[in-house]
Formats: sequence, C-alpha cells, structure tokens
Amino acid sequence: MRRFVFTLALAGSFIAMAVYGLSAPSSLSAREKQAVAPRATPAPRPQTPTAVIPESSRPSTVVVIDAGHGGFDRGGIPGQRVPEKTMTLDVAQRLKAVLTAYGYRVVMTRDSDVFVPLGTRVAIANSYRDAIFVCIHFNAARRGSANGIETYFYSSQSLPLASAIHYYVAGGAPTPNRGVRRRGFYVLRKTTIPAVLVECGFLTNATEANFAQSSAYQQKLAEEIGRGIRERSLVASTSAANRLAANNTTVPLQPFIDQTHYRDPDLARSKRGKRSSKSSSKSTSSKRKHSSDSDSEKRSSTRKKKSAPAQTEN
Ligand code: ZN
Repeated sequence: MRRFVFTLALAGSFIAMAVYGLSAPSSLSAREKQAVAPRATPAPRPQTPTAVIPESSRPSTVVVIDAGHGGFDRGGIPGQRVPEKTMTLDVAQRLKAVLTAYGYRVVMTRDSDVFVPLGTRVAIANSYRDAIFVCIHFNAARRGSANGIETYFYSSQSLPLASAIHYYVAGGAPTPNRGVRRRGFYVLRKTTIPAVLVECGFLTNATEANFAQSSAYQQKLAEEIGRGIRERSLVASTSAANRLAANNTTVPLQPFIDQTHYRDPDLARSKRGKRSSKSSSKSTSSKRKHSSDSDSEKRSSTRKKKSAPAQTEN
C-alpha cells in the first residue's frame, strides 16, 4: 500500500515539472532520462529495492542538514512567541540521529544556537559532492489561522527529493498539506546539490505551535523527513513506479502537490513588505510578515543583487 501510494508522489513530481514549466525530461540527467524512458518491453523488475536501484542512483551518503536561523536571528515574525530557531535546531538534531541510524553521513550547518550566514550554509553544502541539502524551517504569519506543511525546491534536480520528503512529512502531520512549491530561496538557488526546504508548520498557529513544541512531534517530523530522504532513491529509478502510476487513472495523482497556484495572502503581502523595506539584519523589521528564511535570505540577497529570485508561478 505504501509503495502504491508512493507512486502518486512520483507521478506528482512529474506533473509538477509540467505545471512549473520545467522541461521535465530534458532537464534530467542522462541517468535519470534513462530511468524515465519507456521500455520497449516492460521486463519484470526484481522485487527488492536494493536490486532495483542501480548503484549510481543510490541515496547520497552525505546529508547536509541546515537548521534555519540561530543566534540573534530568531526566525519567524516580530512578537512571535515560539522562537523558530529553537524548533528548527531541535528537529535538525533529531533528524541527524535518524539519518545516522540509517547509515548516512550527516553534516550540520549549525549544531547550536549560533548565527550562520546564508552564504556559509550554502558553501558548506556545496563543499560536498554527491550530497543533499535539507533545510528545516517553521512558518509564521500574522493571520493566526494560517497552517500547514509546505516543502520548497528550486532546481529540477531537487524535485524528487522535495516530493519524497513532502510526501512523508505532510502525510504524517495532522495539519493541512500546502503542497510542494518552487521558490528561489537563497539557500535553494545557490546550492549546486539537490536542496529542499521544509516548512514544518506555522508557529503562529496555536495548534501547530503546540505540536511543534512537543518532543514527540519533533521526533515524528524528523522521522518523516528521514524517511523521505531514504525513499528518495526510489524516485531516482522511476520507470517501474511511473508504469504503476500510469495504470492508476482512478486515483487523483497530486493529492499533496496541488498548491501550484495557491497564493497565500500572508506571503503575498510579506513579499511587498520585504521589497520595500531595506531592513537591516536584526531579527526585527516589523513590517515583515512571513517568516521562513525568506526573511533572512532576502536580506542578504537583496543586498547583493537587486533582482528578485525567480518564481515559477508566473
Ligand atoms: Zn525560517
């Protein structure tokens, strides 16, 4: 059942590529193309995943975990009660334990309450070959009712990872599914390895803030993200899964990735606010609304370049 459902995630990935305007097949690596290409004769595939996944497509052994914010940068919005930086670090450390148990080599961009510039985070990620980069964040909005999980990617090579992680996190969380989204966050845009940013819920939402502060839920988040990372390998060998998905026309294919055109009023307003504000790096500029690292990110990226990060939805 799980595998069956997982095929939906895979199908969703490719739908998303189309929706987002990514030229799906042409932007895939040669290896991925090979995996996606239809087979003339659908030979029966071995049953064990280890036999299915060619060595070259096995999961990366290095996972760079990026706990959002830290130090003077609390994350979130001004006046937010629960500091995002603490929640992200907690989940990141739990994720480290989960992944280490799986046999991954884990690198943390921060392992304590310190501020690490975005450029440094990216440099750490890019210093590893055959690695993946996973940023942990929590969301915030003035509108207290805003809630749910969303997962961001930027490069097409990151989409399978985003889909896999989101599938598990959103599937395992008792909160709304806000979908997989593409956005040019600095840490996603500047990384050369597959990079994903997970917004694990809204700390400005009473229910989700309560969840986020419970160690059981933090552990659950870490485990689901870890599962997504582990199962990402299945996305790399998609031919079998695609065939399965294609045969399941009665099942909606994008239950978790259907937010492509969803516009969060909080996000939209915050973008305008950010553009006009030349706020400096303190954790406060009171105009900002939304959260995520887009805050700190935009701070640093707008200083370097004026151009806004690319958005897919246009
Ligand atoms: Zn954040």
